[in-house]
Amino acid sequence: MDMKIALVPGDGIGPDIVREAVRVLDRVASAYGHSISYEEVDAGGISIDRYGIPLTEDALEKAKAADAVLLGAVGGPKWDGVPGPKRPEKGLLGLRSGLGLFCNFRPAVIYPELSAASPLKDSIITRGVDLLVVRELTGGIYFGERGRSDDGEEAYDTMRYSRGEIRRIAAKAFEAAMGRRRKVTLVDKANVLESSRLWRETVSELAASYPEVELDFMYVDNAAMQLVRDPSRFDVLLTENMFGDILSDEASMITGSIGMLSSASLREDSFGMYEPIHGSAPDIAGKDIANPIATILSAASMLRYSFSLEKEAAAIESAVKSALSDGIRTRDIAVEGEKTVGTVECGREIEGRIG
Ligand code: NAD
Repeated sequence: MDMKIALVPGDGIGPDIVREAVRVLDRVASAYGHSISYEEVDAGGISIDRYGIPLTEDALEKAKAADAVLLGAVGGPKWDGVPGPKRPEKGLLGLRSGLGLFCNFRPAVIYPELSAASPLKDSIITRGVDLLVVRELTGGIYFGERGRSDDGEEAYDTMRYSRGEIRRIAAKAFEAAMGRRRKVTLVDKANVLESSRLWRETVSELAASYPEVELDFMYVDNAAMQLVRDPSRFDVLLTENMFGDILSDEASMITGSIGMLSSASLREDSFGMYEPIHGSAPDIAGKDIANPIATILSAASMLRYSFSLEKEAAAIESAVKSALSDGIRTRDIAVEGEKTVGTVECGREIEGRIG
């Protein structure tokens, strides 16, 4: 297969970790007979430095012309004084909205080798944590009508969803569940909110097209509790924008290792943007310390969701697991006394376990 990938290294550790993901992708391509062409795209602080704005039209066009985007991270103290609309994060938001990405996948996995990093008790972790939060990204209360009364004493925000918006993200969740443990939990507040009742109706109707997938429902307050009480009960957790914003952060923190978690932002076709959930970690940029695994796992998700290369994606994931089993640790995931490796060595160790 020929793959055209836009690389957005961004700022801070972005270039360090994207370089390692490319190393691993290149190895997969040669082992499995694919070819990859890369187009480098500026976004965030680096774009502010070069062009005065966090995302140029040209950069967005280059991203649009690719089959998928792999992003490092944007931002850093250097641009803290930059006014709102020109801040580095606007580059990321501009990419997400300019590319029409309405669906966000955030896996939360606890690797047995790294269980000491999780704030959860061993008795909970041993049941296994491997869940996927599927969050709606372009609708709901963050995008609904909002305002203030004339006297400024009242304010309102509106949560609106259409059946079409719900159906398209629910389909993504069911499809993802088919490749996992085949269970979708719709998280909502259907005892109070009319929009949640529309979600339940629409998702239940769609469930008929996925008879192999079990669907259940949970109120968001209970879900927040269950995520720390028994996360093993979740496979795919499907939810609207604001609930997903909160629950995906909660889910990632229970794993305790920010340098390990990937994310994917998708739309109806196969196009997607893939990135680690962590930021640009300016404190460790350029020092060969950053953990590249979240970005390497993001590249695996890209192969799975944008190119349907399941075998190749799984090869990356098992190379990561094997490196962890063999004691390969960057500083952030090492416990006291453990030997650590740098960013480049970590990337090479994973690359060496493929093919
Ligand atoms: P951060 O995620 O960059 O860093 C938090 C802590 O985790 C730091 O101590 C950092 O060293 C560590 N860390 C993060 N990623 C790591 C990795 N791969 N390996 C080892 N350690 C890692 O969050 P922050 O410090 O709040 O933000 C720093 C900058 O990143 C800010 O400018 C912020 O706006 C930006 N940011 C960008 C994104 C993004 O691009 N998606 C997300 C969050 C924050």
